[in-house]
Amino acid sequence: MKIVHVASELFPYMKTGGLADAVGALSAALADDGHEVSVFLPGYRAACEHGDAAAAARRLRFKVELAGDFLAGDVRAFSPRKNLTVYLICREEFFDRRAPYGNGERDYDDNSDRFIFFCKAVVEMLRLADLQADIVHCHDWQAALVPVLLRDSERRHGVTLALKTVFTIHNIAYQGVFPAKTFARTNLPEELYHIDGLEYYSQVNLMKGGILFADRVTTVSPRYAREIQTADFGCGLDGVVQTRADDIVGLLNGVDTGVWNPATDALLPARYSAGNLAGKKVCRTELLKRCGFVVETTGPIFGIVARLTEQKGMDFVLGNADFFLAQDCRLVVLGSGDKRLETHLRELAAVAPQKICFAAKLDEGMSHLIEAGADFFVMPSVFEPCGLNQMYSQVYGTVPIVSRVGGLADTVIDADENPAAGTGLMCEPEVLSLRDALQRALMLFADRPRYAAVQQRGMARDFSWNVAARAYEQLYQDSL
Ligand code: ADP
Repeated sequence: MKIVHVASELFPYMKTGGLADAVGALSAALADDGHEVSVFLPGYRAACEHGDAAAAARRLRFKVELAGDFLAGDVRAFSPRKNLTVYLICREEFFDRRAPYGNGERDYDDNSDRFIFFCKAVVEMLRLADLQADIVHCHDWQAALVPVLLRDSERRHGVTLALKTVFTIHNIAYQGVFPAKTFARTNLPEELYHIDGLEYYSQVNLMKGGILFADRVTTVSPRYAREIQTADFGCGLDGVVQTRADDIVGLLNGVDTGVWNPATDALLPARYSAGNLAGKKVCRTELLKRCGFVVETTGPIFGIVARLTEQKGMDFVLGNADFFLAQDCRLVVLGSGDKRLETHLRELAAVAPQKICFAAKLDEGMSHLIEAGADFFVMPSVFEPCGLNQMYSQVYGTVPIVSRVGGLADTVIDADENPAAGTGLMCEPEVLSLRDALQRALMLFADRPRYAAVQQRGMARDFSWNVAARAYEQLYQDSL
């Protein structure tokens, strides 16, 4: 198949979160399977400066119209692996910036123009380069206008640039909502600014367009596909998602086993496998040292690696501060973000530095060390479209404690409810329920044979992208 991905992030050229990993791993897996894969990405400064792009052989100029303004751009195309071409949509005014969406404090004022331009440029390139796409697969709000533009081009001009479109919701909390006047910049017919189109409470909602106009809609876990059809999780788009209930499917993201595999992980002080866990002990000792804890510690280490946002349930962790202080255990948190959460965590670590460690930074090496060296990984998210760390922790033999939401509920089995199959512990996203799970974790840890059995079952699971990529291939084929 000829498959085109459209996304605002792609590892290793631009990454702020799981989206970049998912699009990078999926496009690579599809290319390796022999499909002809193209990925369109905005030409951010970092992407253009990347060695692959600097050597880009092909450059194409184009122009698109935004409400009477004809804006020029150019496309750099390069091929980082067999069957895969990356197209960077470049226009200095829009994309020659360090960060993709904002300056850290707030979003850029011109984000609507930036991503409308991006989507229009993609459609124009599909035409100019005559890509004859079987599937155009768009990710999140930044790419959501593409299915709308393609449908419009077909209807008004009789031009089919893609046989089918797929839209993936990686996180429905970010929708690309802009003032009504933004609609003119799309040059779409007025009738699409309507409750059955892009209009949403007198504003333009780009994600809504992707959901309504793509042939198929996917989420990054099956449970999230159901959750976002409810008021609790739909962030206001639950009614819109419901209209696509027959065409929506949840496909779990995979784990990049080239990066996350305890048997080959070069970031660890020692490597290990399910058959020989000696290396995991070495990692545990190293983690205790790095945290400034005594290395003779026998109680469990609870680990956390997360963006510090409300989404990740850090308030429930902080609400259990007395548990961590009173019990024979250790807590290590790696993460940065929300200043309020950072301050609370810093204060907590200051109260008991012998038991609680907080590192407010981005640190790839330490994230691997925590996944390997901790005994439990704590992830009590309020909502979680897929989540990666709970999968990493199972692969690394670190028992996850997760809330029963989204991808967490789809990838972890509670060991108390299901003693024969359990791979972790589950709770509700609230303080007391997490406390109960932490207490059950202490009991599990004290029962070594049972803990080892839970650990082994987690390590035996296959979360690789092979599984995920097959599922997308099937979806593409079904839709065609
Ligand atoms: P999200 O995409 O919502 O941030 P995921 O669990 O899907 O959550 O993915 C988060 C990724 O970012 C994981 O690979 C995690 O290890 C990594 N990560 C988050 N915070 C840090 C940090 N402070 N240092 C290193 N890696 C981090």
